[in-house]
Amino acid sequence: MQLYNIKHNEEKVSYAQAVKQGLGKDQGLFFPASIEPLKDVDALLALPFVERSARILRHLIGADEIENLEELVKNAFAFGAPLHKVDENNYALELFHGPTLAFKDFGARFMAQCLGAVANGKKITILTATSGDTGAAVAHAFYNLPNIEVVVLYPKGKISNLQEKLFCTLGGNIRTVAVNAAFDDCQTLVKAAFDDEELKQAIGLNSANSINISRLLAQVCYYFEAVAQLPAEKRKSVVVSVPSGNFGDITAGLIAKALGLNIKKFVVSTNDNDTVPRYLATGKWDPHATVATLSNAMDVSKPNNWPRVEELFRVKGWNLAELGYGKLSDAETKEAMKETHAKGYITEPHGAIAYKVLQNNMEAGDTGIFLCTAAPAKFKESVDEILGIDLPLPEALASRADLKILSDNMDADFAVLRKYLLKK
Ligand SMILES: *Cc1c(COP(=O)(O)O)cnc(C)c1O
Repeated sequence: MQLYNIKHNEEKVSYAQAVKQGLGKDQGLFFPASIEPLKDVDALLALPFVERSARILRHLIGADEIENLEELVKNAFAFGAPLHKVDENNYALELFHGPTLAFKDFGARFMAQCLGAVANGKKITILTATSGDTGAAVAHAFYNLPNIEVVVLYPKGKISNLQEKLFCTLGGNIRTVAVNAAFDDCQTLVKAAFDDEELKQAIGLNSANSINISRLLAQVCYYFEAVAQLPAEKRKSVVVSVPSGNFGDITAGLIAKALGLNIKKFVVSTNDNDTVPRYLATGKWDPHATVATLSNAMDVSKPNNWPRVEELFRVKGWNLAELGYGKLSDAETKEAMKETHAKGYITEPHGAIAYKVLQNNMEAGDTGIFLCTAAPAKFKESVDEILGIDLPLPEALASRADLKILSDNMDADFAVLRKYLLKK
């Protein structure tokens, strides 16, 4: 597979290189040089999830890279993505059955497997800062992988107790550091480490961040899995709504369409951080200051992956006017949660936004699929309060609740972090 830098088209890399490097020159995103449609999509849809996903990824990555791809896919996709029928025309794609109860497990785990495979036995240190969720997905994804050391920084006292229990109790090759500072200071420390060439070389520093192409490729697979679970008569006119923040997830969906998956329309769903819906309505790119909402994983006003969406539309000759879009305020999000609850299905804020914006973008005869990106229990506080219920704690959380937090403490001082990284 060849990829090019969207900002500097002359910079071309292999898949392995793109996975290791993350970003190109000037922070440019890598994009596949070609996306050949799959030959027999219907036959693929008849296969089991892991086998089908391995074939799709082999098709994208090519025969000459990542020899043991099939094994990596099997390790990464150790849980399913069930499609739940909500009513006659609407289905929820549940992407939250992984170890950290959110769809990011799919991408993070596949990325971890790929990085392990392309490292060639050289030691890698993954350093990342988290405000909660991403760190958990990364820590679980790399847990127990050979030759990989993970260090996750987070702001002390600023993530929930359960979030902390989820990823600071693993031990082994996962080191977690509670920094006496804010999330932004943690990010500044990470940046300083990446600017330190000597340190970078010494410990094989890698960011494993959300713009890594391997994550997107992994996510392509569950769009096929969604359609594969639809009854044949419901597959003709499918509309898919994606709750969007950095727009990686919807990029993956659009790549699935480019591969030949029969999706009539994709719908961009956001909260009040609605830069893209406003852009699609007016043609003006005008990000506002980011505001805090109930669906906080989508509190992004300058989405990182948007250039990839535009690039895909450009190379495919598609028109952005074909994208559906919409946004919900927090008040509307609560109403949407009550609406699915009345239909017997519990959603958390992100999934509820995808559901409601989908309804506003469907025509008679369409089948709607909305992505449920996190387990309702992950947002237990708001879900309980809004719906007047008491959700049970899922096993993934309950089983860690009594474990000891293994984190180290640190001031936001780069000299101290540097020593800490070089030790061990
Ligand atoms: C990250 C996240 C999103 C947004 O996904 P993008 O790929 O950044 O658009 C939506 N919902 C949840 C629960 C998330 O964690």
